[in-house]
Amino acid sequence: MSFAFSISQEKLVEIRRVLHQHAESGLSEFWTTAYLAKELSEAGFDVKVGHEIFDVSKRMGLPDEATQQARLKAALEQGADPEWIARMDGITGLVVDLRPDLPMHTVLRFDIDAVDVDESSEGDHLPAQEGFRSINAGECHACAHDGHATIGLGTALELLRYKDQLKHNIRIIFEPAEEGSRGAAPMVSAGVVDGAKYFFSAHIGVNARQDHELVCGTQGFLATTKFDVEFFGRSSHSGADPHEGKNSLLAAASATLNMHAIPRHGHGNTRITVGRMESGTGRNVIPSYAKLLCETRGETTEINDYMFEKAKLVIEHSAAMYEQDCKITVMGQAGCAVSDRLMIDLVKTVSEDVPYFHRDLLIEMGQGFGTDDACAFIQAVQKQGGYGTYAQIGSSLPVGHHNQRFDFNENLLQPSVELFCRMALAMDALD
Ligand SMILES: [Zn+2]
Ligand SMILES: [Zn+2]
Repeated sequence: MSFAFSISQEKLVEIRRVLHQHAESGLSEFWTTAYLAKELSEAGFDVKVGHEIFDVSKRMGLPDEATQQARLKAALEQGADPEWIARMDGITGLVVDLRPDLPMHTVLRFDIDAVDVDESSEGDHLPAQEGFRSINAGECHACAHDGHATIGLGTALELLRYKDQLKHNIRIIFEPAEEGSRGAAPMVSAGVVDGAKYFFSAHIGVNARQDHELVCGTQGFLATTKFDVEFFGRSSHSGADPHEGKNSLLAAASATLNMHAIPRHGHGNTRITVGRMESGTGRNVIPSYAKLLCETRGETTEINDYMFEKAKLVIEHSAAMYEQDCKITVMGQAGCAVSDRLMIDLVKTVSEDVPYFHRDLLIEMGQGFGTDDACAFIQAVQKQGGYGTYAQIGSSLPVGHHNQRFDFNENLLQPSVELFCRMALAMDALD
């Protein structure tokens, strides 16, 4: 059966480019949320935004107030609908239901946030060449979430045609702040996947780096904890009274080196990174404050917990050595989930009807890279007896994800909409 599209590939490219141009970092996707909400509500969806879909008590890693205000102002200046902005009440992301009158059953999930990267302005970078480079400095769709949001919007609109023949509700989640693993937990806590039996999400690229390739399920995600560390010491004159000072820079440096020296775990992969260190005010002043931005990862939640616990020990003892007070703030967290066989088989079967995906480039189970916040949704669905999978949609890539020159092959947009629609209908047909 061929799929009758109501949204053309050209239109999807147009949507993708508009979203790309308005790249917004996690928890600040004001323009993006308002744009998607407006499109979907005009199509007839009852769009849910704000507190109903996001438990702010579980929110981590919110940018500071000044940054949020500046980004909100920019979104309004860039034409975000003030009515939707008001309804969002400072919360980004949205949820729509195909049949809210029927029991909760199938969930499709798309992430919408950008990466904290300054997009390349070089002429051979397509978005720069074609004039849709990010207009927000330091925010760039370098992880293909502009593609994901486009596919999500396209899928929602195409599925409207099937609304009357559905047996259950199909919910479409547009998740904010996937980067830093900050969006899923508050949404799960607000109950957005309560009662769901089947969950499907996908990422463009990851380890599927060929056009027409499709990876049906993913394993090997790493659980992660993102955290900030602050050291509070005492400043003094470095010539006259160095003995009076309590050097926060040294505590941070000691903690950094020793966190990287935590013994690896024998039962699986681990990672640790101190990605940023800030300290000091001048050459002749003993630094009284230092801040570290860190993350741990592990092949299982237990192994990640091991890394985080060891990191805390190192931080506390580094603080003690240099007579510091210290504060550790968790900024984001994600577990890991393995895709279910039942769902992998379903993707495999369904994709046979999408000619874009080549049979010889079909992989049943692929490896994740790093972490994806989709795991929090999959785990929640699995915990209530359901099934989930996280696919990888193949694309040739000029450079890897999170690079300022990242881009993907737009030809995958319409076939991906078809894949999601067919998956949604196939899941709806299950009990
Ligand atoms: Zn990413
Ligand atoms: Zn991503």
